[in-house]
Amino acid sequence: MGKFGFTISKGRQIDYDSNDRSIAAYIFEREPSFRLCIECGGCSATCTTGNLTKFSLRELNILIKRGENDQVRESIGKCMLCGKCTLVCPRGVNTRNIVSLAKKAFQLTDGYAI
Ligand code: SF4
Ligand code: SF4
Repeated sequence: MGKFGFTISKGRQIDYDSNDRSIAAYIFEREPSFRLCIECGGCSATCTTGNLTKFSLRELNILIKRGENDQVRESIGKCMLCGKCTLVCPRGVNTRNIVSLAKKAFQLTDGYAI
């Protein structure tokens, strides 16, 4: 069949039932403010790392909640734990602690080097 200069995008589904949400559960239990995140992006806008790379804490928060842990594991090491994001969050989310807890959870589950 001939090509007409365009392609159909691959399906992109989020399977909450089969995704591993244990990292999110670990964080929710220890840092309840994680539930207050409204994904506004204020943290990403002020993020030291985000200003220099494609790192986005907002995206990370969403991926953790979805249980898409492989992508989180790939980028979470870029956070320098400077805490700027915590200062600007309008919902009072302890973002710095969320990153710390996520790193700790990965370390406990698969030996991730903090
Ligand atoms: S600034 Fe706070 S509420 Fe907004 S995305 Fe970041 S953690 Fe969530
Ligand atoms: S603690 Fe991490 S996510 Fe927050 S502003 Fe600093 S580098 Fe960015």
